[in-house]
Amino acid sequence: MLSTRLPAQVAQLVEQWTENPFSPPDASKAATKFWKRIDRSGGPNACWPWIAKLNEAGYPSHRKHRDVLALKLGRPIAPGMHTLHSCDNPRCCNPAHLSEGTVHDNNDDRCARGRSIRGERHPKAKLTEAQAAQIKFKEFPPAWKVAKKYGVHRGTVTQIWLGYIWRHLAADRSAP
Ligand SMILES: [Zn+2]
Repeated sequence: MLSTRLPAQVAQLVEQWTENPFSPPDASKAATKFWKRIDRSGGPNACWPWIAKLNEAGYPSHRKHRDVLALKLGRPIAPGMHTLHSCDNPRCCNPAHLSEGTVHDNNDDRCARGRSIRGERHPKAKLTEAQAAQIKFKEFPPAWKVAKKYGVHRGTVTQIWLGYIWRHLAADRSAP
């Protein structure tokens, strides 16, 4: 039984997909391959993480969630519009968690929840916020020595010092 909170159209799609995960609506080889890479084992209301390759920003490569949203909308995503995740999980491809909106909507949404994806919340972050602050404010070159100490790449240390990453850390966050 599906949640009555799901819009009827989405509920129908989800039902087809969850009941018959390896025979998606479009039973072409490409579609089957596509749905095999989305973990729908959590059920209709859970996040459906993309389990294959992610791009640099931590999103499914080729922006698969856009394809899923287009399926849900029954049309391509409007020009200039973005896929928003109500769950804030960039891997998620559950159509129930996806909606169309502007980057502005997205930022408003994220700020409202205080869950902007940066720092240690970033899926690829290896450092905690405290460690990054330590590197940024308390460590000194050579970078390779610092990198060795924290178990990260030398380039990561350099990027922190140059302010390319962990830019949001303020000096007061370096304590103790
Ligand atoms: Zn989700």
